[in-house]
Amino acid sequence: MTTRKTTRATKIAGLLFGLATVACSQPGAELSAQTDQSVADAVATITVADLQARIGALAHDSMRGRNTPSPELEKAARHIGRRFREFGLQAIEDGSYLQDYPLTFTALATSAEQSVRIDGAGGGDLPSAAIIVVPGARFGRVDAPIRTTSADDRSSLGGVVAAVHVTQPGLQRAFADVRGIIDRGAEGVLLVVDAPDAYFRGLRRFFDREQMALGVADEVPAPVVLVSRSALAPALGDAIAQGRTIDGYEAVLRTSSLIRETSAPNTIGWIEGSDPDLRHEFVVFTAHMDHVGIGRPVNGDSIFNGADDDGSGTAAIIELAEAYASMEAAPRRSLVFMLVSGEEKGLLGSEWYSEHPIFPLESTVANVNIDMIGRNWRDTVVAIGRDESSLGSTLEAVVARHPELGLTMIDDPWPDENFYFRSDHYNFARKGVPVLFFFTGTHEDYHGVGDESDRILYDKTARIARLIFHLGLEIANADGRPEWDPAAYERVVEEGSR
Ligand SMILES: [Zn+2]
Repeated sequence: MTTRKTTRATKIAGLLFGLATVACSQPGAELSAQTDQSVADAVATITVADLQARIGALAHDSMRGRNTPSPELEKAARHIGRRFREFGLQAIEDGSYLQDYPLTFTALATSAEQSVRIDGAGGGDLPSAAIIVVPGARFGRVDAPIRTTSADDRSSLGGVVAAVHVTQPGLQRAFADVRGIIDRGAEGVLLVVDAPDAYFRGLRRFFDREQMALGVADEVPAPVVLVSRSALAPALGDAIAQGRTIDGYEAVLRTSSLIRETSAPNTIGWIEGSDPDLRHEFVVFTAHMDHVGIGRPVNGDSIFNGADDDGSGTAAIIELAEAYASMEAAPRRSLVFMLVSGEEKGLLGSEWYSEHPIFPLESTVANVNIDMIGRNWRDTVVAIGRDESSLGSTLEAVVARHPELGLTMIDDPWPDENFYFRSDHYNFARKGVPVLFFFTGTHEDYHGVGDESDRILYDKTARIARLIFHLGLEIANADGRPEWDPAAYERVVEEGSR
């Protein structure tokens, strides 16, 4: 099998490289970078105290959960850029460490900016608690007669606000049908939700939390508003529930401009390789600096700190940058350190980078991604993707050479969770870059207010970061670049599956 062959090849390459550094020993600096002492000194800069300080800062309540986009995310991005400058990393364009990418941000406007009024017997302004404006519509004001309809109805809806009766189990279906209703000419859509008020309140909270994820989807070309049936005049509500049309009612929908064009940052710094023949190849280390922001308070705490997710990976990348930058001479290939954002919204920052790479992807020999390495077991680590390329056997060799780290590799214990598609390495893998994804599992505080810095296992996080340091050095110094397993390449890159 390919893996076995690659294992041997990698070991031989490692041996040859060891000899080569001695044999070619041209002027000192490059050789000194490879001495055990130099490596040991660099590894020693990865410390528990540094990780505590870095995760503590990122996950501090004042960072308000580093949502994408948010001022706190920008603050984190600039903060990391300043560290990169202090370490002496090279910037990307014009001295900046930030790659901003455009973001279409959709949010529920404040209640004051949107309203639903029903004109007709028993009508009036609906209480704001009884309406949910679906994010995505740019529309201002719509004023039109109400006509009951359903997805099966094929009649034109030109000039009316279409009212659709929706039951609790039918909600998803109703969303799917909205586009068709708008295509029939409706000026606006009222989804009349026939469910207990408590369910409606739950829906409102869902939209408050998930607004962005929905908003990035297609723009909605007409206002769509969920209204609670209990807030409608009984005659109107009954007619809609029974599928009957009723005359004499008009809806006045006022929805503000809900779409904002904005941007979010990736922070990127790099170290140029020391080998003139290999410095145009890159090893890219990634983690995501964003988290999910603030949400509904739990015991008075509304901040989703994201210490493990992914303060742990972000801090590890900063520590790796510091460690490599401290070496007298750089490894042979160039190293790129990238903290992306928008991960929690759907891998947005890494997707943007993979479509607008600063370092050519065909020259990017590996992506090592770190997402959540601070909790659970102290002595094992999962590297998802290690069955896909020779990076797996390289990692196994590095683990074997460093028993002092006390780490054992285990297979992905959660294959059904599809974590492979759930962090930023995926955007490199789908473009043909071999990846390894370091991860130590979710836990009861995953995406919760309890993902706090005092629950991180710092010693373990430091040992994993050191392991990744040794791994990165191995990849960057190897004669050959990592190779895909052909079957995995076909699956991941050509078919986009796993
Ligand atoms: Zn997450």
